[in-house]
Amino acid sequence: MELYNDTLENLSQRLAKGEISALELTQSVLKRIAEVDGKIGSYITVDTEGALAQATAADIRLKSGENVTPLTGIPLGLKDLISTAGLQTTCASKMLVGYRPEYDATVVRRLREAGAVITGKLNMDEFAMGSSTENSALKKTCNPWNTGRVPGGSSGGSTAAVAAATAIATLGSDTGGSIRQPASFCGVVGMKPTYGRVSRYGLIAFASSLDQIGPVALTVADAALLLGVIAGHDERDSTSVNIPGANYYDNLKKDIKGLKIGVSQEYFSAGLDPEVETLVRKACGQLADVGALINEDVSLPHTDYAVAAYYLLATAEASSNLARYDGVKYGFRSDDADGLVDMYRKTRAQGFGDEVKRRIMLGTYALSSGYYDAYYRKAQQVRTLITRDFDKVFGDCDVIVAPVCPTPAFAFGEKIADPLAMYLSDILTIPVNLAGLPAISVPCGFTKSGLPVGLQIIAKPFAEETLLRVAWQYEQLAGWSGRRPELEKGAV
Ligand code: GLN
Repeated sequence: MELYNDTLENLSQRLAKGEISALELTQSVLKRIAEVDGKIGSYITVDTEGALAQATAADIRLKSGENVTPLTGIPLGLKDLISTAGLQTTCASKMLVGYRPEYDATVVRRLREAGAVITGKLNMDEFAMGSSTENSALKKTCNPWNTGRVPGGSSGGSTAAVAAATAIATLGSDTGGSIRQPASFCGVVGMKPTYGRVSRYGLIAFASSLDQIGPVALTVADAALLLGVIAGHDERDSTSVNIPGANYYDNLKKDIKGLKIGVSQEYFSAGLDPEVETLVRKACGQLADVGALINEDVSLPHTDYAVAAYYLLATAEASSNLARYDGVKYGFRSDDADGLVDMYRKTRAQGFGDEVKRRIMLGTYALSSGYYDAYYRKAQQVRTLITRDFDKVFGDCDVIVAPVCPTPAFAFGEKIADPLAMYLSDILTIPVNLAGLPAISVPCGFTKSGLPVGLQIIAKPFAEETLLRVAWQYEQLAGWSGRRPELEKGAV
């Protein structure tokens, strides 16, 4: 087996035993990128030189046996909204082309301290706004299982890279589903931690009360190893919490006999693709076979209002967060302007894509005086009701199981002209962000036409340990994780 095809879990053991070197592994991944990324398009920036230098440093560490962590020498890719000192960070926007951050995000600092190798920066929807990666202003990313289909979004580059083996694992960010939905479309594991579990310092903000960085990997164990390194309190992010995390990896194998799983009817309503429904229901049956207690009688009655509330709150926050891109402080500046105000206007008109502009306008409108109570405050109230729905269900259940997305990966162009149709693809992931909960997408099978489908598992706040354990147990009995699409090399 080529090194790039192995799991993070195996590779870290092979590295620790000295069977392989970090340099060999990194060269294998870089070769794979050169061979197949022309066809898939995950990477905006490949940092060959940096990766080789970090691999050499990791080998010294591995040889001495000191300070070795499960990530020492492991090649990882990062969604291009996570700040990397000196390495271009674009948010897939013309606005930030050429921007080289002065500092590393906290997650990047933690990865570097653990000895990880950073291969480069991955494509996404511009400023993480979208569900297909088609909103990237810089390039197109294809689904490795079917290159006529989208990889999902907004972390489409991160999930396609894991599926195509052009990184051993990656980080994405999830504001309304942007890790779980593309993980489902690309047949990989993607996890959104509890809001506050992972520091957002250095994550370029979209909607600050919803954004959360999380792992994307081939297996649940790989995701647990990665979460173990990036999670934890950070004094630079006042919303990061000081609750000690469990040892996610070591606790995966505890059985789930007697664990209570809720299945809410609202997540199986009209619009759900029948093949997706069949696969998710089958997964529930398999969990029952290993001793979990399934309760199909739970209800999340405010689910229908989640998308509307999300698109008010997320756009309101985005309109404020994106005010900083004015041509003065960062990146792009229009050079055909007549005076300061014209420069602001033209910079924003030329630097942002249509979806970003649409959201800035929507958010600005919702926050305007006179409309605040009708829209923003109302949406906050709905957010509270959705959170209470979950609290009630979790009074009785340990986790909730649901589909991730109503459909498998759709074709390019299918939804891009209709923003509302695109927004609806997040209907099953958004409530989790509104309530700040941890959730994961684990592969649960393929449609007849060969497209992967994910199973969503949702847990109580800070119950990542339980979440990962259920996901791991399911993965062992279902066996869908770890599959790779056939990709001809060299096709560009
Ligand atoms: N697709 C959703 C949106 O467009 C979610 C994006 C995200 O999670 N970053 O807002």
